[in-house]
Amino acid sequence: MQVFDNHNNNIFNLLSEGVSEGIIVVNTKQIITATNSSTEQMFGYDKNELIGKHLDTLIPKRYLKNHGHHVENFVKKSEKRQMGHGRDLHGIRKNGEEFAVEAGLNPFELFGSTYIMALVIDITERKTRERELSHWARIFDESLNEIYVFDAESYHFTNVNKEAQRNIGYSMEELETMTPVDIKPELNKSEFKNLIAPLLNGQKQKLKFETIHGRKDGSTYPVEVHLQPSAVGDKNAFVAIILDITERKNYTQKLEKTVEERTKQLREALIKEKELNELKTRFLSLVSHEFKTPLSAILTSVTLLGKYNLTEQQEKRDKHVTTIRNKVKYLDTILNDFLSVERLESGKVNYKIEDFPLSKIVNEVIYNANMLLKNGQRIQYPEIIDDLLITFDEKTLELVLSNLIHNAIKYSPEDSTINILIEEDNDKLWLKIVDQGIGIPKSDQKHIFNRYFRAENAVLTQGTGIGLNIAKQHLENLGAALDFSSEVNKGSTFIVKIPKKLNTQ
Ligand code: ADP
Repeated sequence: MQVFDNHNNNIFNLLSEGVSEGIIVVNTKQIITATNSSTEQMFGYDKNELIGKHLDTLIPKRYLKNHGHHVENFVKKSEKRQMGHGRDLHGIRKNGEEFAVEAGLNPFELFGSTYIMALVIDITERKTRERELSHWARIFDESLNEIYVFDAESYHFTNVNKEAQRNIGYSMEELETMTPVDIKPELNKSEFKNLIAPLLNGQKQKLKFETIHGRKDGSTYPVEVHLQPSAVGDKNAFVAIILDITERKNYTQKLEKTVEERTKQLREALIKEKELNELKTRFLSLVSHEFKTPLSAILTSVTLLGKYNLTEQQEKRDKHVTTIRNKVKYLDTILNDFLSVERLESGKVNYKIEDFPLSKIVNEVIYNANMLLKNGQRIQYPEIIDDLLITFDEKTLELVLSNLIHNAIKYSPEDSTINILIEEDNDKLWLKIVDQGIGIPKSDQKHIFNRYFRAENAVLTQGTGIGLNIAKQHLENLGAALDFSSEVNKGSTFIVKIPKKLNTQ
């Protein structure tokens, strides 16, 4: 059937060949009565090959059922409209290839019959572009990295993906009025400008830096920012991809702390090891030196004793017996000191706290010390302390007192006095050992409690440098204290402070 007469047909051809859209005219039975060459090209048919064919020829089979129904409805209503609004329409080429189309329908009357003119556009490319765009939009929105896009001039955020909005706590609406500076508490506007200057002047293509992001709720988190310029339409913009590096930072910090701790432990172990080695060396040299002198004195006295076999030589024998007793006592003292060091080091000290009269220990220590006194030396001590009860470890107090009194004797000249003073208040008791001896040089005073330390003016006197160290440690273990004051060539005062209520462990 011919829709148009020849004259009209020419006009139709003229008009329809000038447009790039496909034009298809069908009658109410959906038989194609005219097409233009755009349609033929689009669907892959020769000129006029489609005339007389059913419209279904151009529609993929699976859409046919719905389609016929739509067209019928449309013809009934007979109004102009865009077809397939909100739906994807599809065409099929002669070679069976399907493609996306957009179609507009225009009904018209000619010689008393109704026709429909369809304007068809191949939208394959547009669809591909749309699909790509929506793909990228999805990637943008669904990315677990935070993505911020902001205008290159105003710095206002123009787009911020979901993850970023979730973490920072602001909505897109709020972010539109904000700039990166508003969420970077560490940076002000000019600092931020300086930071991104290399991107602005083209010096760099992208920037990577670490900073802090401030959330809406006031909390902050460390971030790594990857920033690069981009364009949104004809506007310059920046795209920032943000990695929340809280965990990385925590992990690094934890690691650094562990390394630090281990290094400290190692260093301490090394120092301990060194100290132990030093201790061994010193111990050996002490043993050889400190033991040798008294031992050879004992040997001499014993040899001489053997020779004084006459009755009238009793005085000489007595002298040598005293020497031997003193030397053995001295050896016993330093052996006790060594044992004390060992026990303190290994933590194997067992204290026994009990009540005892202070006079018991003082008398015993003074009695033993009397044997060591030099010519003209005397010890003055308060004798009316019999009713002074003390709660402490007896052995420790004896060790401390005898060490202090022996030192006072050792480091004082002949004809000098050693004073023992006892003072007390409600909760403390002070034992003071005051001598008129060589004193301790100022520069040596801070080292005096270090193990093995001996002041420069003491080296000619026998000693190990252990006594004060262990005395102080024992006292401190028991909640007591040891202190001193001293002046060279005037004398020293050593003070033992004992609390009356002990924190017994
Ligand atoms: P030692 O007397 O065996 O050397 P100590 O630990 O008892 O060891 O004393 C450490 C050092 O303190 C002594 O070598 C000495 O230099 C100094 N010292 C201790 N008591 C006195 C004192 N009463 N007068 C002067 N110096 C003292």
